[in-house]
Amino acid sequence: MATVRVLEAERVALLQAAGRVLAEPVAADRDIPPLTNSAMDGYAVRGADLYARPPIRLEVVGEVAAGYVPDLVVEAGQAMRIMTGAPVPAGADTVVRFEDIELDGGAVVILNAPRAGADVRQAGEDVRAGQAVLEPGAVLRPQEVGMLAAVGCLEVAVVRRPRVAILATGDEVVPPDQPPGPGQIRDANSYTVAAQVQEAGGVPLLLGVARDREALVRQGMRAALGRRADFIITSGGVSVGDFDLVKQVLAAEGEMHFWSLNMKPGRPLAFGVVDSVPLLGLPGNPVAAMISAELFARPALLKMQGFADWSRPTVRACLTQPIARKDGRRHYLRVQLRETESGYEATLTGDQGSGILNSLLQADGLAIIPEVVDHLHVGAEVEVLPLPRVGFRRFCA
Ligand code: AMP
Ligand code: MG
Repeated sequence: MATVRVLEAERVALLQAAGRVLAEPVAADRDIPPLTNSAMDGYAVRGADLYARPPIRLEVVGEVAAGYVPDLVVEAGQAMRIMTGAPVPAGADTVVRFEDIELDGGAVVILNAPRAGADVRQAGEDVRAGQAVLEPGAVLRPQEVGMLAAVGCLEVAVVRRPRVAILATGDEVVPPDQPPGPGQIRDANSYTVAAQVQEAGGVPLLLGVARDREALVRQGMRAALGRRADFIITSGGVSVGDFDLVKQVLAAEGEMHFWSLNMKPGRPLAFGVVDSVPLLGLPGNPVAAMISAELFARPALLKMQGFADWSRPTVRACLTQPIARKDGRRHYLRVQLRETESGYEATLTGDQGSGILNSLLQADGLAIIPEVVDHLHVGAEVEVLPLPRVGFRRFCA
């Protein structure tokens, strides 16, 4: 996280800015609301006329709808029919709702007098002209997008999205549009990770598969730089096998850190910098790759986009089955969450092997079992990291 930097800003159309981080201050060009207007459908009256004993009888002198300007002044003893959002006519300062009146010929009879000033929205009561409405760093959720529209800001500077090069490695791995030959398997990781990159707000660039030769892995990294990637993600080749070359190539081409992490799935992880572009080397097993990308790529991509908070909120859930014989590592168990009257229940989604894609298909969360916990009983409470859902495309995270 210390290595990755916030990217520069770009100007985009307002709707392209949704879900991103503002890179400039925005001030209101005028008052919101721009005019003093009625909060209700009713009659605009003079507050001073409401001190009489009800029923109060006032002469109706006209009507004003939203979007029009009243052409009369309301004098003492008079009222003007007014619709929600219409400008309050000169002389009037109060609106009496339809519910509180009766009509009698050309007059309105107020049965229930509100206090003076009721149901009138003052110009600028929401935002004053010149007031700062949003500061750099603001996350543009739907409500911020609406505020920008309200102040007439249809083009804004936001932090640009990172271009993320994705490179699979492995002699056995073939692009998914090719039928796997003997000993081969289709590349699932590039696509899982590309979807995760999109969910995190990045732009994925799929570079295909590099075979397990130093020169070809190097070529893949160079291709990523050639395509102006801001971040590079590889999968496979970071383990201790004879042909796990990502570490060597990264060390030769740039600066390399490598960790063996006390977690499951996903023990090996490489991280480094090539030509000042950060590179994250994910393990090859598909479940390990996805979980590692969630834990290590996503925060980096959020930071690059200027988000100050890159956590994903977790939920507490009770286990519906026991967990036994742990191995001292932190486990990320794929679970299905069910909401009950007393909170969430978490149920394991079958085979927890680090290559079992189906265990992720069934899952809507990852139960985090701390390394210090050895076993858990039915009903034990665990922390669950929810996996992104459809329609969950990031606004904040
Ligand atoms: P590795 O980390 O390179 O030793 O790979 C670990 C396991 O993950 C091996 O069984 C690989 O076949 C598998 N694997 C590696 N890369 C991919 C990929 N892109 N898609 C699917 N499986 C993969
Ligand atoms: Mg491999």
